[in-house]
Amino acid sequence: QFQMIRHEDLRLEESLGRGSFTRIFKGSKTDIREGERQNTDVLLKVLDGSYKNCWESFFEAASLMSQISHKHLLLVYGISVHRSENIMVQEFVKYGALDLFLRKKQGSVPVSWKLDVAKQLACVLNFLEEKKIVHGNISAKNLLLAREGDSSIGTSPFIKLSDPGISVAVTGRDVALDRIPWVAPEVLEAPETWGMECDKWSFGTTLWEIFNGGKAPLQGLDPQQKLMFYENHEQLPSPKWTELADLIGRCMEYDPALRPSSRGIIRQLNSLITSDPGLSAHADKDSF
Ligand code: ATP
Ligand code: MG
Repeated sequence: QFQMIRHEDLRLEESLGRGSFTRIFKGSKTDIREGERQNTDVLLKVLDGSYKNCWESFFEAASLMSQISHKHLLLVYGISVHRSENIMVQEFVKYGALDLFLRKKQGSVPVSWKLDVAKQLACVLNFLEEKKIVHGNISAKNLLLAREGDSSIGTSPFIKLSDPGISVAVTGRDVALDRIPWVAPEVLEAPETWGMECDKWSFGTTLWEIFNGGKAPLQGLDPQQKLMFYENHEQLPSPKWTELADLIGRCMEYDPALRPSSRGIIRQLNSLITSDPGLSAHADKDSF
């Protein structure tokens, strides 16, 4: 359930590097609208040859994104198949991935900005929960920044959740291990049993990233050490802000049934905002 886009209508411009299973390009798409040619900036994801057997899951990701529409969900235009290449065509988001953005800003991002982003993500989470849809790959890397926002002139950031890509259900265990601590623990144990609670876990990890300057959690651990982390039911280092730590901890409960609903998450985020009135005023260098 996605549009097929003719390869002739696409132009690949600069390379933006690689994704997990993709090569990524900025490019443009030509449409004829009311007799006139129109060019739109797009982002193109070309599926790697070595993951070609996962094309169904790649198409499914595109299909999922095309079927649902929300202001904080990335727009996917469709798929283009050219010879043996599968290309996902999506909206180009100006400021790129949130983790890179936060790292570049090195702690100069106000708490209120981070809370805005967190609330926007919670809002999509709520939308997905109502539709009973599992995203399955929520992370700061998959949040794209459409507007920077500047608190000094009263504008907020604006994020869009990207497509989930190939599902860990088909990539095998290595990829799942690599996705610790974003992937919910139950996904590793029994991939067939996971439900919407797994997005709550990933939300917790993403919240942790947002308040930790976009640094990757558990960096430097090898897959075996990452697995041990889950087997021992360990938790990421807690932020000093206890109300925030509590929310992250509740999302990252090892028992999926104990994780909050998206409504509960929104409620707790709203109470975070009022838990320290002075907080939104200062830029925190280090909330840990
Ligand atoms: P995964 O399935 O693991 O998410 P991927 O193929 O989606 O992998 P990413 O690693 O998520 O690839 O993205 C690679 C980089 O491409 C990001 O860090 C970001 O800078 C850039 N990028 C991805 N999507 C967009 C987009 N729609 N607009 C602008 N930049 C993007
Ligand atoms: Mg991605």
